[in-house]
Amino acid sequence: MGVLDRNEFTVIAGPCAVESEEQIFQAAAAIAAQGVGILRGGCFKPRTSPYAFQGMGVVGLRLLREAAKAHGLRSITEVMDVETLDLIASQVDILQIGSRNMQNFSLLRAVGRTQKPVLLKRSFSATYRDLLDAAEYIVAGGNEQIILCERGIRTFEPFTRNTLDISAVPVLKELCRFPVIVDPSHASGLTRLVTPLTLAALAVGADGAMIEVHPCPEGALCDKEQALSFGQFGELMDSLRLMAPTVGRAMPLGSLLAR
Ligand code: PEP
Ligand code: MN
Repeated sequence: MGVLDRNEFTVIAGPCAVESEEQIFQAAAAIAAQGVGILRGGCFKPRTSPYAFQGMGVVGLRLLREAAKAHGLRSITEVMDVETLDLIASQVDILQIGSRNMQNFSLLRAVGRTQKPVLLKRSFSATYRDLLDAAEYIVAGGNEQIILCERGIRTFEPFTRNTLDISAVPVLKELCRFPVIVDPSHASGLTRLVTPLTLAALAVGADGAMIEVHPCPEGALCDKEQALSFGQFGELMDSLRLMAPTVGRAMPLGSLLAR
């Protein structure tokens, strides 16, 4: 098996940012109960404003690791710079390169030298070729465990936060061998669009999706307009479980705990 099981539709879920012990443990329990295997949670956050919540840093990393471990999950968090890479790589299972850093070539080379899987998010202004060239920097470092992520691009449409470029999925799958997932949360910026866009991603051949989920979306410190509550996440997982077999994908069963 490669970095992701291609027979499955892999869901990665969790809050935008780790905010507290209680929050990340509750999120870990809820997603584990849905059969999801990978917990996300930003610890070093790339915020547009320097005055916005920047993440819990090192403490957040420890909480993410402990919450994932307590529920038998793998963990993923964003790496923003080369300085914090070794520390982060020692704490999580998958490294995330965010949209804003997709062409940070020194960071790409550095994650290429690690043995960790890397989720590479498409920049909101990158062409498919730019994304594939960025992935090649990681490969050049010796690391081929790459997952590409379409997370929406900037267009003239202001209604949604970004515009999900659904064509990216079949095109990237045609052009490269890496698994391709979709992030409908950052693509739309709107909770109510997350489920339809995830189902579209499944239909068009994506290998998975990364979804922002929060125990109390209205109180989230980051990206609250796009977070799913546990109930909404459960409904999304139910829809995926119904649809996945029709496109030849397996989905993990949720446990009774999640009902
Ligand atoms: C994220 O997934 O936490 C994130 C910041 O997304 P992006 O880099 O796509 O904006
Ligand atoms: Mn976010």
